[in-house]
Amino acid sequence: MKEIEILKELQKIDSQIFQTKLALEEKPKKISFLEKEFEKLTVSLKNLEAEYKKLQIEHKEKDLELQAKEASINKHKGQLPLIKTNKEYNALQLEIEKMKADNSLLEEKIIMLLEKIDVIKVSISKEKEVLSLEEKKIDSAKALVKLDIKALEESLSRLQVQRKTVIPADLKPEVLELYERIRENRGEIAIVPVRDGSCSGCFMNLRAQVLNELSLGKLLTCDTCSRILYVESEN
Ligand SMILES: [Zn+2]
Repeated sequence: MKEIEILKELQKIDSQIFQTKLALEEKPKKISFLEKEFEKLTVSLKNLEAEYKKLQIEHKEKDLELQAKEASINKHKGQLPLIKTNKEYNALQLEIEKMKADNSLLEEKIIMLLEKIDVIKVSISKEKEVLSLEEKKIDSAKALVKLDIKALEESLSRLQVQRKTVIPADLKPEVLELYERIRENRGEIAIVPVRDGSCSGCFMNLRAQVLNELSLGKLLTCDTCSRILYVESEN
């Protein structure tokens, strides 16, 4: 095979390798995007759970307060038989009634809190159901991305094997070096066809002499962008 044909073949494989690597870099981003989207969906559940916790703490506090007040009422009641005067007795009795009234207000508040807690409990379990469905969806999307990654990795190693077979043992090392150097400096594309007398890498017109020598099968590079040039065959 002519040098130029070998390099064309090599360029074809290297471009595929480059594209495959690019795609492989993108795939993990897709997975973290999916994970972030799911994270956003969990915000509402987290808020509900925080509210639930807050209400439970409030309930516990009110419950303790109620118990303390009940103990206090009992203590006052215990003092009643020890009182000597009617006036003092009535005053204490009044005090006890007041405390009982306060307590029934507190009890109402506790009942309302318990109702709120029940409502939130229901919302939490509904939200969890929704999330578990979403999680399943995201998991299968992630599984598909992982399959894509596997397929890309397989085709990458296939291409790398193929690349080795394209380079014959007798290819001049300087030709391969030239190709590699241009590819590195010119963003992957080292070899380009001539179109309408111009280099299709940089679109500059080529000198008549260059076109002439190319048609004789010489290995030449573009004066402007340094890429290796070739003339496309008729077929
Ligand atoms: Zn050029």
